[in-house]
Amino acid sequence: METQLYKSSKRRENRKTGVKILICIFVTTMISVFGIVFLTSTLSFLVNWYEKMMAVEYKDISYMEDLEQLLYKHETLVFQHMVAADKDTKDSLMAKAYEIQQEINELLVVFDEHMKGRENAELFHTIYSGVGSYFNKIDIIFDFSSSGDVATAEYYMNMTLANNIAQVNDNVEQLKENIELAVREKNEQIEKQVNRTSKMVVLLVVMLLSFAVIEHLLCGKLTKRIVYIDPLTGTANADAMEAYMTRMQKKKRLDQFTEVLINMKDFNYLNRQYGTDVGDALLTAYGQALRAKMQDSEVLSRQSGDTFLALLKKEHAEDFLEYLKAVKVEIPVADVKRSFDLHCRCAVYPIRQEDTAGDALNNVSMTLSIAKRSGNKDQVWFSEKRYKQIMADQEVLELFETGMKQEEFVVYYQPKVNARTKKLCGCEALVRWFHEGQLVPPGKFIPVLESEGKVVELDFYVFEHVCRDIAEWVKKGIEPVRISSNFSKLHLQNPNLAEDILSIMRKYEIDPKYIELELTESSGYDDLVMLKKFVKQMNEEQVHTSMDDFGTGYSSLSMLKDVDVDVVKLDKSFLNGVDQGDESKEKMISHLIHMIRDLQRTVVCEGVETEKEYEFLKGVDCDMIQGYLFDKPLPHDEFEQRLIHPLYQS
Ligand code: C2E
Ligand code: MG
Ligand code: MG
Repeated sequence: METQLYKSSKRRENRKTGVKILICIFVTTMISVFGIVFLTSTLSFLVNWYEKMMAVEYKDISYMEDLEQLLYKHETLVFQHMVAADKDTKDSLMAKAYEIQQEINELLVVFDEHMKGRENAELFHTIYSGVGSYFNKIDIIFDFSSSGDVATAEYYMNMTLANNIAQVNDNVEQLKENIELAVREKNEQIEKQVNRTSKMVVLLVVMLLSFAVIEHLLCGKLTKRIVYIDPLTGTANADAMEAYMTRMQKKKRLDQFTEVLINMKDFNYLNRQYGTDVGDALLTAYGQALRAKMQDSEVLSRQSGDTFLALLKKEHAEDFLEYLKAVKVEIPVADVKRSFDLHCRCAVYPIRQEDTAGDALNNVSMTLSIAKRSGNKDQVWFSEKRYKQIMADQEVLELFETGMKQEEFVVYYQPKVNARTKKLCGCEALVRWFHEGQLVPPGKFIPVLESEGKVVELDFYVFEHVCRDIAEWVKKGIEPVRISSNFSKLHLQNPNLAEDILSIMRKYEIDPKYIELELTESSGYDDLVMLKKFVKQMNEEQVHTSMDDFGTGYSSLSMLKDVDVDVVKLDKSFLNGVDQGDESKEKMISHLIHMIRDLQRTVVCEGVETEKEYEFLKGVDCDMIQGYLFDKPLPHDEFEQRLIHPLYQS
C-alpha cells in the first residue's frame, strides 16, 4: 500500500512532468498563433493596399469618360441648335445645353479636387481652363444661332472648337493616356509586390513547417521521456515495460525471460524516519544498483511506489535473485554518506511460451500478492498451485460483499476456561462463513480479506454481533463472560478506531468488563506506535486488550514492556512437544508463563487438546485454557448453555 509520504513525492514528480508538457504546448501554440496571425495580416494588408490604389486610378478613368461624354453631348446640342428651324426647338436645345454645361462644371469641380497634388494635375488644369474658355464663348454662339445668323455662329463655333475644344480633347486624350500608363505601372508594381509577398509567404510556410518538424522531434523526444521514463529514478516506467514485453512477444522472444517483481521492505518506515528526500534518493539508488546488475537486453522498470519489475534472461535470474537478498546502497543523509542494506519481498515468474505480455504481468503481480500474504517468504516463485490459489482468493473477494449482505457470516464462541477451577471465564468470538450450505474455514478467507483490506469490515460486523448478543443475554438475565473479538492489525491505520469501537459499545450499552479486543503485533515501527496508542486509549476506557498468537511472527517479550495489554495469548504452536515429554520445551514454556505473569498479564493458552497439556499448563500457573479439550467454537445457542452451566467436569 502506498503511503501518504510516497504519494506526496509522486505528486511532486507528476507536477514537474506536467510543467514540461505545459511549456511544450505553450511554445507550440504561441508559434502557431504567431505564424497564422502574421500570414493573415500580411495577406489582408496586401488586398487592402491594392484595392485602395486601384480605386484612385479607376476614379480618374471614370471622371475622364464622363467628361468626354458630356462635352460630346454639349457639342452635339450646339450644332443641333444651329440647324434647328423654329425658335421653340432652339430654346429647348439651348436649355439642355446649359444643363449639360452645369453638369460639366460640377464634374470639373469634383475632378479638380480629386486631382489636387497628383501627377497629372497640370494637364488637368489646361483641360479645366480650355473648357472654361469654350463656355465663355458659348453665349455668343447661341446668340448668333438664335438670331438666324448661323454662318457667324458656325464661324465662332469652329473657332472655339479649333482653339478650345480641340485643345481640350487633345488634352483629355493625353490625360487618359497618362492615366492608363499610370494604371499599367501600378499594376506592374503590384505584380512585383505580390510576387515578393508570395515568396515571403512561401518562405514563412517553409520556416513554420521546419519549426513544426523540429518541435515535433523535440516534443516527441520529451513526450517519449515523459511517457516512458520514471522521472524520479530514471528507470523505465510500467508503460515502457509493457511496451517492451509486447515487442518481445511479437518477436516470439518473451519466453526467454523471467520476471522478478520486487517490493522493497520497510520503505514506508525509512521514508518516515529520514524524510521523503532520503526516501526518493533511496529509491533512485536502489533502482541504479539493480540496473547495474542487469545485462544488455534486460529491462528494469519502476512499476509504482517502492515496486520494481526486472525482466531478466532466464539463465541470469538465479544470480540476480541471490543479489536481491541484500542490496547495499550509499546515499548522503544530512551531507554525510550513509550506507543502507535494503531488503525486499519478490515474486518470480518464468514466462511461458503461451503467455502474452498481459498474462505475464498479471501472473507476476498475483504471485507478489501471495508473497505479501504468506509473510515469511521473501522470494516466491509462481506455480500452478499458487495460480489456482489466487483464483480461489479472487472468488472469495467477489463473494464477500454479497455474503455480508445476506448475513452468511455467523459468529461462534469458543470458551476459555479457568485453568485452576475449570470454570468458564471467557470466550473468543470466531467468525464462520456458511456459503451455499458449505462451511468456509477462516483460514480460507481471513488472509485474503486481510491482504485486500476487507477484513476491517468483517471485524466490525463480528464485533457488532458480539455486542448485540451480550446485550441480549443481559436482557434475558444470563450473565455473560468477557468476550474477546479479533481485530486485524490493519485497523491500526484508522485514527478513529477507538471511537468507532466505543460507539458500537455505547449503541448496545455494553459494560466494558464484557469486552476484550484481540490484537496481533506486526513488523512495522508505525504499527507499534499506533498499537501502543490504541491500547492506552482502551485502558483509559476500561476495555481489555490481548496480544493474540504470542510467540509467532513478530511478538517478543520486550514488546510487552511497551504495549500495556491485559492478556497474552500463547499460540497453539507452543504446545508442540509438550505431551511428548520434551523437557526443554516444557521448561521454556514454564519460564515464559512466569515471566508474563510477573509483568502483571493474564496468560491464556490456545489450542489445548489433551489432558496432559492441560495438566502441564495448570502446573506452570497458566491462567486460562482455550482448546478443543473443553470446547470447539460453538454456535450462539450452544454457547448460551455454557453460560447457564459454566462449570466443566473434573
Ligand atoms: P485465532 O484468533 O488465533 O483463533 C484461534 C484459532 O484456534 C481458531 O481457529 C480456533 O478454532 C482454533 N483452536 C482453538 N482451540 C483449538 C484446538 O484445541 N486445536 C486446534 N487445532 N485449533 C484450535 P479458527 O476459528 O479457524 O480461526 C483461525 C484464525 O482466523 C483465528 O486465529 C483468527 O486469526 C482468524 N479469525 C477468526 N475469526 C476472526 C475475526 O472475526 N476477525 C479476524 N480478524 N480474524 C479472525
Ligand atoms: Mg484470536
Ligand atoms: Mg490465536
